[in-house]
Amino acid sequence: MAQSPTTSDRPHVASKRYIYAWGAGTAEGNGTMKDLLGGKGAGLAEMTLAGLPTPPGFTITTEACNDYFNAGKELSAGLWDDTVAAMKEVEERTGKGFGLAANPLLVSVRSGAKFSMPGMMDTVLNLGLNEETLAGLIALSGNERFGWDAYRRFIGMFGRIVMDVKAERFDEPLEARKHVHGAGAKDTDLTVEDLKALVSEFKAVVREDTGREFPTDPYEQLDLAIKAVFASWFGKRANDYRNSQKIAHDLGTAVNIVTMVFGNMGDDSGTGVAFTRNTFDGTKELYGEYLVNAQGEDVVAGIRTPEPISQLKDEMPEAYEEFVRIGNELEAHYRDVQDLEFTIERGKLYMLQTRIAKRTAAAAVKIAVQMVDEGVISEQEAVERIEPAQVDQLLRAQFDPKAIKSAERIAKGLNASPGAAVGRAVFDADIAVEWVEKGEKVVLVRVETSPDDFHGMAVAQGILTARGGATSHAAVVARQIGKPCVAGCAELVVDYGTKSARSTLTGTSFAEGDWISVDGSTGEVYVGALPTVEANFEEQPELQTILGWADKIRRMGVWTNADNPEQATQARSYGAQGIGLCRTEHMFLEGGRLPIVQSAILVANVATRAKAKVAAGETLSADDQAAVAQFDAAMAKLEALQQGDFEGIFKAMDGLPVVVRLIDPPLHEFLPNLEEQLVKVTRAEMSGGASEEDKVLLATIKSMHEQNPMLGLRGCRLGIMIPDFVKIQTRAILNAQVAVRKAGGNPIAKIMIPLVGHVNELRVTRRFLEVEADAIAEAAGVDLDYKFGTMIEIPRGALTADEIATEASFFSFGTNDLTQMTFGYSRDDAEGGFLLKYVEDKILPYNPFQTLDDAIAGLMKIAVDKGRSTRPDIELGICGEHGGDPESIHKCEKIGLDYVSCSPFRVPVARLAAAQAVLATTHDK
Ligand code: ADP
Ligand code: MG
Ligand code: MG
Repeated sequence: MAQSPTTSDRPHVASKRYIYAWGAGTAEGNGTMKDLLGGKGAGLAEMTLAGLPTPPGFTITTEACNDYFNAGKELSAGLWDDTVAAMKEVEERTGKGFGLAANPLLVSVRSGAKFSMPGMMDTVLNLGLNEETLAGLIALSGNERFGWDAYRRFIGMFGRIVMDVKAERFDEPLEARKHVHGAGAKDTDLTVEDLKALVSEFKAVVREDTGREFPTDPYEQLDLAIKAVFASWFGKRANDYRNSQKIAHDLGTAVNIVTMVFGNMGDDSGTGVAFTRNTFDGTKELYGEYLVNAQGEDVVAGIRTPEPISQLKDEMPEAYEEFVRIGNELEAHYRDVQDLEFTIERGKLYMLQTRIAKRTAAAAVKIAVQMVDEGVISEQEAVERIEPAQVDQLLRAQFDPKAIKSAERIAKGLNASPGAAVGRAVFDADIAVEWVEKGEKVVLVRVETSPDDFHGMAVAQGILTARGGATSHAAVVARQIGKPCVAGCAELVVDYGTKSARSTLTGTSFAEGDWISVDGSTGEVYVGALPTVEANFEEQPELQTILGWADKIRRMGVWTNADNPEQATQARSYGAQGIGLCRTEHMFLEGGRLPIVQSAILVANVATRAKAKVAAGETLSADDQAAVAQFDAAMAKLEALQQGDFEGIFKAMDGLPVVVRLIDPPLHEFLPNLEEQLVKVTRAEMSGGASEEDKVLLATIKSMHEQNPMLGLRGCRLGIMIPDFVKIQTRAILNAQVAVRKAGGNPIAKIMIPLVGHVNELRVTRRFLEVEADAIAEAAGVDLDYKFGTMIEIPRGALTADEIATEASFFSFGTNDLTQMTFGYSRDDAEGGFLLKYVEDKILPYNPFQTLDDAIAGLMKIAVDKGRSTRPDIELGICGEHGGDPESIHKCEKIGLDYVSCSPFRVPVARLAAAQAVLATTHDK
């Protein structure tokens, strides 16, 4: 397709040029001008330039919208004159007159922002109708029913969108009229008389609700509609949508004025929506729906059940052929799947919209790989086109097939957006939000959804509707925000009044608050909460292909945080290249080990002091001797158990680095809660006396109690106070390494010290550790091969990283603690408390525990530079939760880390995000 001819400046009265027109094979704008013209306007211009059949029209720019709001909701001076001039041009191009009874021009007034926001803003169709132009329309078309149908639609739409009349006010008389023709009557069953009656009923509704007559002057209609479309930019649903999709609020919407073409002129007319490939499963086929004798929104709104697009081939073969050709052309031009809107007016095809199609995660990876195979896009582009959230979705759980067999299936609808959703049924979007805020999981159940339900859909686990097809609002939005959705479940009778739904298939009902399970991959609906199983990564070859391409692009390694061999194996199958954090304390809690740990902790202090006495040449009391014996026995057991754990992990990660962090949390975490123990002892004392054991335990807990345990005796501090923890863990790690190596493996051990704020802490710990290492090396008769490093998670550690690097061969940024300590927030308290409000009120732009804060990233950068200044080959990674967050991964790329480490399930996401970070950085340059 051609680039636009140079757009010679259009004469304008306003101080700026606000208008870009198209028609008769030429356009003043083009496809690259989305910022100014919005996606819809740019697409219409581009299609027109390509010679495709579009109805003539013009775009009022996003700038006009922003200037409108900046001026306190006033159209910029001169804009109206320029609009009228542009209307005159459309009149010339169509040979019709706006408000001209003899040959009326009708237009649609359509919103259209830079980013597509399906259904979030408003469009008015059939504008320009009044009693006179209606008469002309009927006379010209020779179709009275069509004329009145267009008119009642116009009054309803204009009344709702421009005059703020509630939609129900029009729905009620419409439903009543339909009902006269029987229970399942459709809008096409309405007679001319019905439609005429509806028009006067609609007008009466407008009069009652707004206190004014429905405007008859087409130019007044136009003026009001333009302002209403501008206003819809700041409407609640558009705002909610932008917040959820992180779209800027200051972009504004363009307004497109488009000559009406009519799909409701009879059985040789129709309207539809289609995708150039299947956006549900990625199959290469035209995928969509259409309705005969229908207008604009009917397909999307689920008014009637639409026909699959393949049927158009038989019904209107010529229009179908042309549409297929145009679809192929547009896809080739944009090099991506297109989402197309078309209308057929008496056999003639018109294109009304083209945009990049939203798709499911499964379709996204399939289509990206297809298009690389077809030579349409490069591997890099394929990697860029997949969103990290989509990878996440592909690894999401499905219902357990065993549970499905015995589950109570009550209905089956359309599999509109894949995934398994379990939650309590709610029938209202506001209630969904309320319940989710209380910590409930909900499934939103509606007859059909509209853009007003978006906030409820966004928080629900899944969405279930009784009406609407694959391109219905529920389906399109659910796919886009990655929620499982079953749509058009006709077997379900939803009753908002009683807040319940009944299956006509099985007779089963469920009410608000009942658990239901919906399977968006199959369309099946169950009562009760079904168990789920994890998705199978091995069976997703396209995903693996894309991640393979990502691996070629990314610079940073992707490691994982894993504490046992199962997690390690899982992560490795997802592509992890090492363990960046193996937390040893979890091993203390597993499989009945807690009593051993407690037995050591109870005497840890006494025993440690006793050992110091021995070292100083003193003799020990019997009590001291007993304490040492108890302590050493318990520690020896722990050492043996941990060695077994490490052997398992080294085997699972054979040939890959394993960073083991020595004990980190305060010891009281391994003891019973102080209050509970106090209550237990006090109760026992009142009824005959507490056991000696319980009393000693209580005393120990009391003696270890700290005001601020997170800032207390933990991490390297604990190791310095009770060096045996460091010693046994070192021995367990290194003996495991020796054992696995002897068995022919290739274990790569890295020992990491937590919570270092001063280089001397590291120095002292290192000395304990090296004594053990030397002894093991001697005993085993081998050279040990391990690396020694530290976490950087205390601000002072980051600020003195040059000193610390002299003792550490690697740093791993513990960004959970680093964030907590730099902000001075206690994470556990903050996230449950004020942090929510901070984010809501935009005191903070986002939760810094989820996405790395820029100041923390800045602190890391200082540590990176300082660390490299004294040890140029220092290895740098991150093991905080941020290591699996795509936005944070971009920041890690920027500050030059060597790897990110995240939980096993985030590994595939991180592989993709790390590649995208490289591509984004090269684009920046
Ligand atoms: P959205 O952004 O919600 O898709 P649109 O502006 O595309 O809204 O319009 C809503 C519906 O009306 C679409 O189905 C569209 O194809 C149809 N439509 C818009 N303008 C015209 C027109 N000039 N003639 C016929 N149908 C139209
Ligand atoms: Mg549209
Ligand atoms: Mg920490």
